[in-house]
Amino acid sequence: MTPTGEQLCYTDAYARTAEARVAAVEAGEAALVVLDRTVFYPGGGGQPSDRGLLLRTEDGRTWTVRAARKAGGEIVHELEPGDGDPPGVGDALTVDLDWARRLALMRTHTALHALCGVVWRDYGALVTGGNMEPGSGRMDFEFERMSGDLVDAIEATVNTELAAARDVRVAVLPREEAFAIPDLIRTKVNLLPEGIEEIRTIEIVGLDLQADGGTHVSNTSEVGGIRVTGYESKGRINKRIRMELVDPA
Ligand SMILES: [Zn+2]
Repeated sequence: MTPTGEQLCYTDAYARTAEARVAAVEAGEAALVVLDRTVFYPGGGGQPSDRGLLLRTEDGRTWTVRAARKAGGEIVHELEPGDGDPPGVGDALTVDLDWARRLALMRTHTALHALCGVVWRDYGALVTGGNMEPGSGRMDFEFERMSGDLVDAIEATVNTELAAARDVRVAVLPREEAFAIPDLIRTKVNLLPEGIEEIRTIEIVGLDLQADGGTHVSNTSEVGGIRVTGYESKGRINKRIRMELVDPA
């Protein structure tokens, strides 16, 4: 399904504001608003949705957006209860992200891809899942022989790779083309539903290539350093590594 609203987060991760009009509103305990364009990321792939504000052009009234999500292909903005009546269909608004939070998520997400890339390249371990908050995250791997010494080595290597100022590129590939890239198979691109015709990829040039819907910084130098804050066993084979940004702000 082609959404009616323009979804800028997928093409320009650095767009933090947009001028928009309200396309649909659903009243409720938390009102739901669809816009004709938005900079909000709706969440997914371990990256939480954005937060921010809607500012009505006509009278300067504002609403807090506490979360966003995808529904029927559209990005739906969930308003904070208690901000009064929602805006009306057709209202002109400025959409304004909580940019400090989004940028921290972009840096964290890119750091996690660098971690995946190093663990795959140096140890051949597959990633099975992950999650993040602004400034910290975790990844799970099929990594039977992980140990404290290995984790120290991984942290050092990830920091070397981030400091190498590698470009981060976004591409949208036809499904067939994406399936022909051997590296993508490890991120389980083959589990994507039949109906998906195009696959978005994130490449840390020279290190990592994944099918991914999230937002990323454009160069690893923007991440700074990372620190591994813990690791644990989730079974004989499955291991979890926790990390945080050295400079989260
Ligand atoms: Zn990702």
